[in-house]
Amino acid sequence: MSQKPLYESMKQSVTRVVETDEPTKPNDLIVITGAGGFIAGNLVQYFRNKGFKNIRAVDKKPLYEWYLPVPGVESLCLDVSNETNCRRVCEGAVEVYNLAADMGGMGFIERFRIECLRSILINTHMVEAAYRAGAKRYFFSSSACAYNTDLQQDPNVRALKETDAYPAMAERGYGWEKLMSEMFCQEYWAERGMKTFIARFHNVYGPNGTWDGGREKAPAALCRKVIESLDTGDNNITLWGDGTRTRSFMYIDDCVQGIDKITHCDKLIATPINLGSDELVSINDLLTKVEQAARLNKPLTRHYDLDAPMGVAGRNSDNTFIKQVLEWEPSTSLDDGLVKTYEWIKEQYNRRKAGMRVGIG
Ligand code: NAD
Repeated sequence: MSQKPLYESMKQSVTRVVETDEPTKPNDLIVITGAGGFIAGNLVQYFRNKGFKNIRAVDKKPLYEWYLPVPGVESLCLDVSNETNCRRVCEGAVEVYNLAADMGGMGFIERFRIECLRSILINTHMVEAAYRAGAKRYFFSSSACAYNTDLQQDPNVRALKETDAYPAMAERGYGWEKLMSEMFCQEYWAERGMKTFIARFHNVYGPNGTWDGGREKAPAALCRKVIESLDTGDNNITLWGDGTRTRSFMYIDDCVQGIDKITHCDKLIATPINLGSDELVSINDLLTKVEQAARLNKPLTRHYDLDAPMGVAGRNSDNTFIKQVLEWEPSTSLDDGLVKTYEWIKEQYNRRKAGMRVGIG
């Protein structure tokens, strides 16, 4: 028997009237967790540049390890898997963006499923603390890993649409945590009336993110490997898998803009939505693009590690829904985004080589 996707059936059963609230004012408190990391760090900078004066950035990492400490922002080093800390973090908040999670690329999420699952504590306590604080809007960063993995067994994959999460068979560990946390957010709207927003990010890349240390994702890892090859003069490069797996990659500027748009669209309350690029590439193609960004005269010699973590065969974002609701979708081309990412990682690589402190992950 076919099963109705959760969010559609929820919409039918929830008869809440959506009250229009005042637009957030420049002095209203915005709380962003995971701010020492890649996406939330960029989100802090985005809201700061937009003129918000009262931002509280939170991460458990010591401040010197944050990628993008933004001047003029209250920065707290606190673990938000702890309930008491979450209450402190959400005090006075008008909007809460929860992006803290123990995560990384395939290498991390395939090896450390327990750590990934434990992030359930973060959203569980954050959403409750935001509710108690009277926050008007709560954003949760979900992932394309919440989608049914049975639909991702072919590199020529059909792009995933929002209804493809149910019947559920999410990525082990990380994906199930995201799906369950989505459900928490949906029920905080259904039962308690807090406006919650859920974006399912597809791979995000760009400057100020993890580029070494085991948690980095494919674009950053390939940029670093090409830089290392050029630096050492070794013309060989090893890719994880056979190079045929496909993914789409969203540039960070599109991601933060999308988070803002989604969180301020009442049509999307408690409704998971894809936030990703729909430009599908194979890992082989991705390396070719990185080589172009590096302006290599001659391609590197490719080797394939078939024992390395690889993830599902193919995954792409179906952007029909986001285009329909927001009349917008991520649009930075992979070629353009990779040039900026490559240049930033090269700078970090050279700084580290010169003995300077750099954030890697
Ligand atoms: P990131 O690892 O760079 O940032 C996450 C940050 O959360 C880290 O700085 C980490 O120290 C912090 N953190 C972890 N546990 C914490 C805790 N208990 N208390 C306080 N801080 C804690 O990751 P990112 O790429 O910026 O991802 C941000 C969010 O987006 C995560 O929820 C992630 O699952 C989601 N996401 C990211 C991608 C991607 O491609 N980067 C794709 C899908 C979903």
